[in-house]
Amino acid sequence: MTQELKIQENVELAPFTTLGVGGPARLFVRVKYEAELIEAFRFAHERRMEVLVIGGGSNLVISDKGFDGIVIQVGMQGTYFSPASAEGYVELTAAAGEMWDDVVRDTVEGHLAGLECLSGIPGLVGGTPVQNVGAYGQEVSETIASVRCYDRHEGKIVDLSNEQCGFAYRSSIFNSSAAGRYVVTSVTYRLREGGEPKIIYPELIRELDAGKTGVTSPSVSDVREAVLRIRRKKSMVIDPDDPNSRSAGSFFKNPVVTEEVLNSVASVTPDPPFFRMPDGRVKVPAAWLIEQSGFHKGYTAGNVGISEKHSLAIINKGGATADEVIGLMTAISNAVKEKFGIDLHPEPVLVGF
Ligand SMILES: Cc1cc2nc3c(=O)[nH]c(=O)nc-3n(C[C@H](O)[C@H](O)[C@H](O)COP(=O)(O)OP(=O)(O)OC[C@H]3O[C@@H](n4cnc5c(N)ncnc54)[C@H](O)[C@@H]3O)c2cc1C
Repeated sequence: MTQELKIQENVELAPFTTLGVGGPARLFVRVKYEAELIEAFRFAHERRMEVLVIGGGSNLVISDKGFDGIVIQVGMQGTYFSPASAEGYVELTAAAGEMWDDVVRDTVEGHLAGLECLSGIPGLVGGTPVQNVGAYGQEVSETIASVRCYDRHEGKIVDLSNEQCGFAYRSSIFNSSAAGRYVVTSVTYRLREGGEPKIIYPELIRELDAGKTGVTSPSVSDVREAVLRIRRKKSMVIDPDDPNSRSAGSFFKNPVVTEEVLNSVASVTPDPPFFRMPDGRVKVPAAWLIEQSGFHKGYTAGNVGISEKHSLAIINKGGATADEVIGLMTAISNAVKEKFGIDLHPEPVLVGF
């Protein structure tokens, strides 16, 4: 089937990102069907053009030069809930272009457990397996059954099992070993009907504390509401009226280091916070390292700064350029490296730097 693609020229990309920086795309197309997606790749291939796939632009920093190729925005729509299995599992298949938080809300309203802690994360469904989104003790890899993709190498649609996706902390084959190869067109999540919500994260437990909310046995809806309350306090829910939410979320991954590196951090600043990982290494909060290195909440440098509510979020204070964002990122990374000898790695995808 040949699809008539609605390709636009010279489209500013900043409005397609939550951070609001980045120059224009030479060409831009939004695809709503797999056949259109395949057609868009054929179009690009014939013209030997670079392709950038985007979803909701909430994990992207695009350079001021923009993108000299074709940007494909994945816009497939639709969700399907299977009947519950005898074991009480419901499979939800959501198209890649659905708003992630709308999907989470629907699962919670349907009393399905598995995604409740991931409430309020911006972006689209197709972005969730890419960096294995996670928050408040839950990761999307815990419920993903399979991911349907367009395989650019083979030129065909494939279904990848959870194991084939190679999920780890903020990582999958989609952003590591097979980066650029697969375009996610839909994701199937396996959820528990009437299941218990996941409540292991200390901050979430405190928020749900019976004394505060009057809730003794929290439901998935109670957990969703609690997560949204916590996120709003940190400006981690996109809100046009909240300037601290004009970000790409957490800008740095929490470094995972050896016990030896942790001891060397402690020799510089006593009692660093850390979480022990199953493999024996420890995860040190990047926010703590950043604050100890002199970059505090509310720090400002020209048109960019650090959120007043969250020291991991670099924000666009209005009229920022991508160069300013990268300048602040570099200043923070250098300060942490100099003080603690630890390399911080950005969480958002940097395009064109
Ligand atoms: C305020 C705020 C809070 C956030 N909080 C969290 C959080 O708690 N936890 C967390 O993990 N993340 C968080 N994020 C980051 C971000 O929301 C997630 O990573 C989200 O899943 C990205 O989805 P997206 O559709 O916006 O992807 P985009 O930003 O458009 O793209 C990100 C990357 O994924 C690729 N991609 C996008 N769609 C597809 C597709 N269909 N197929 C293949 N590749 C694709 C792009 O090429 C790019 O490399 C936050 C961001 C913001 C702004």
